[in-house]
Formats: sequence, structure tokens, C-alpha cells
Amino acid sequence: MTTATLIKNVRPWAGEPSDIVIEGGRIAKVVPAGNATPDADGSVIDGRGHIALPSFTDTHAHLDSTRLGLPFRPHTAGPGLEGLIENDRANWRSAEESVSERATYTLDRTIASGATTVRSHAQVDTLSGLDRIEGVLAARAAHQARATVQVVAFPQAGIIRDRGTADLLAAALSSGADLVGGIDPCGLDRNPVEHLDTVFGLAERHQVGVDLHLHETGELGAFTLDLIFDRVRALAMHGMVTVSHAFALATLTPDRVEAIASQLAELDIALTTIAPAGRRTLPLDLLARHAVRVGLGQDGMRDYWSPFGDGDMLGRTWQLAFVSQLRRDDLIERCVAVATVGGRAIVEGGGGAAWTANSEEPRGLAPGDCADLVLIAGETVTSAVMDRPPSRIVVRRDRVVAEDGVLV
Ligand SMILES: [Zn+2]
Repeated sequence: MTTATLIKNVRPWAGEPSDIVIEGGRIAKVVPAGNATPDADGSVIDGRGHIALPSFTDTHAHLDSTRLGLPFRPHTAGPGLEGLIENDRANWRSAEESVSERATYTLDRTIASGATTVRSHAQVDTLSGLDRIEGVLAARAAHQARATVQVVAFPQAGIIRDRGTADLLAAALSSGADLVGGIDPCGLDRNPVEHLDTVFGLAERHQVGVDLHLHETGELGAFTLDLIFDRVRALAMHGMVTVSHAFALATLTPDRVEAIASQLAELDIALTTIAPAGRRTLPLDLLARHAVRVGLGQDGMRDYWSPFGDGDMLGRTWQLAFVSQLRRDDLIERCVAVATVGGRAIVEGGGGAAWTANSEEPRGLAPGDCADLVLIAGETVTSAVMDRPPSRIVVRRDRVVAEDGVLV
């Protein structure tokens, strides 16, 4: 017989006070507060009357580049994407701490903020070899009991520009990476066919998914997306591919975006956004109508690319609502759904688009759902997003893994 864990007195999605019973790492039932009795040998978690939400998923981190917790350093990159890539390559080895120490600390901060699922890219290139990916894999091992962490072998410096990277990507996939990445096949590598054939060839050989950075805008981005669609169709990789950023969707005309979204839905290709400013925000309304899976991520945090980022997924959810220029509660709650169940459907797999459900539904807190939860102080979900209160309890399956910003 499995022992039940009882979470007393929480408000699922800021609804009625409830008790949540967890069995075998899944939600067994949700009943009005005071109506569940604890098992004799089960544990009881005091929910403090907090809002209960599914835990956050950071679908796009760069744990190998983070400098969270280290002294601030001035930004030294030259202009453009190449300047950023070179700044990182020139400085990461001389950081005050190793990649594994820095990645472990940033994961600590991310989990304490309420995330128990993370997908991190880790750079693989001919200068760093597998050093960075090994650091991220060590951080994953350090937090194994607290979070599910997927690692993407990411060719940040290109595959064609940096010959030798394809072999390193294969080696990374053989040593524990979960997915193969790619980046701007036209804009950076200037050879989209060879770039994408390499990425999808590795995915097929190693039986893994793909998560590709696509900063290309307008028709160039649409062209690359079309080449991706061809390969997903040819290899029957439905549900196994994610496109990160996908700025083309923020820069094309609405009818072009509609056509792309229906292809994304047909091939079950997911999108992730880091909630960037400017004309780069994903059209959430349109993607919800097409039931495309969408997740939120924090990108690099306080690194050689940018001084922004603090490990707080609730803060990043605020940013998504802010850059999307939302005010209505149901739309801000939908941003929370993207950051929680939306991302989980990408990392853990599974079809459909849980984040698109209307705000009356339990969204990830129904019997049978995974019992990874974050309990946050606040009146309403919107108020919690606006206030980002430090009083939070993070539950992983049947135990508390972080409380009020500290791992336990
Ligand atoms: Zn990225």
C-alpha cells in the first residue's frame, strides 16, 4: 500500500481552500480544505492558505554560461551575435568557479523559485569540447532528487563554421545529453541544408529530440521553418522537435503566421520563448487557437551575454505578461499556464496544449497529474505574478524541496 502525502489548506489556481492528497508522486484527489485525513505514517505539508500551481518549467536555460552568485562584471561583448559568442568563448574558462559549480548554483536558485523541470542547452564546440556539457550533467546529478533536467547538446558556434562540432555533438549524445540542438542554419551557418541534415541525422541516429535556436526573422525564418517541417515529416518526428525563439512568428504578416502555426500544430512542433522585448514576442493568442505547445524559459542568466536573469521563473512569467502587454487576469493566468503546464508538456512530452485550457479548468492540478507543485502567497494568480512574493513552498512528488527561497 502506498503512503499518501497530504497538503493542507491551499487554493488551486487561487480557487477555494482545498486539501491535496498525493499518492505515488501523483495527485490522488483534491477535496475541500479540512476534509482529508492524513495517513498514520504519511507526511503532512502545511499549505499556509497559499495559491497552489503546477511547478514551473524553465524550458530554455543556459546553465553552462551562468554567473549567478558571482561578482558582477562589466559587459565586454562586441556588436552582434558574433560579438556575444566570442565574448563568452574568451572568458568562460577564467570564471571564478567551474561550470558545474555555477550550473549547480543556478539550478538551486531556479528550483527554489518554484521550478522542478528544466531544459538547459550546453555549448559544444571545438574550443570547449565536452567540458561545458559535462559541467551541466554534474549539476543535474547534484539536483537529481529535486528536479528533472534535460540537457541539449548545443552547437552555439555553428556546425559548418566550426567544423568538428558534428562529431562532438554525437559524443555528447553518447555521454548523457538528451537532445540535439541547432542554431540559425541560414543566419549563422549560411548553409541551412547541411546544418539541418546534420542535426536531424544525429537525432535519427541517436533516437533523440531536437531543440533548435531560431533567431532568424521574417521570410528567412519562415524558409528555415519550412526546411524543418520537411525533415519532421520525412522522419516522422512529430512531437519530438522544439523551435526556440522563433522570431519569424513575431515579424511576419498574420496570414503567414496562421499558415505556419497550422503546420506547427500538424507536426506537433513546440515553441519556447524567453519573453524578449521588442518585436520578438510570440503571438500567444494565435498559438493557443492552434493548440501549439509553448513553454517559457530564462535563457542565459547574468552571463557573458547579458546581465539580466535571476533564476526566478515567477519573475520571468511577469516579464512574459509585460512584454505581451497583457492586463486581463485570464490572459495573465495563461502566461502562468505557459510557464507551468505548457513547459512541462514540452520537457515531459505528451500531446495537446494544456496551457490553452480556459482558466476555469484545474490546469495540471487534477487527479492523475504529476504532484510537482509550487505554493505561492497571494490573493489571486495575477497578484502573485505582480508581487512575486518570496513566500513559496516547492513540492516535488511527495516532499518539500524548497521553502521560502531555500532548498531543504
Ligand atoms: Zn538560448
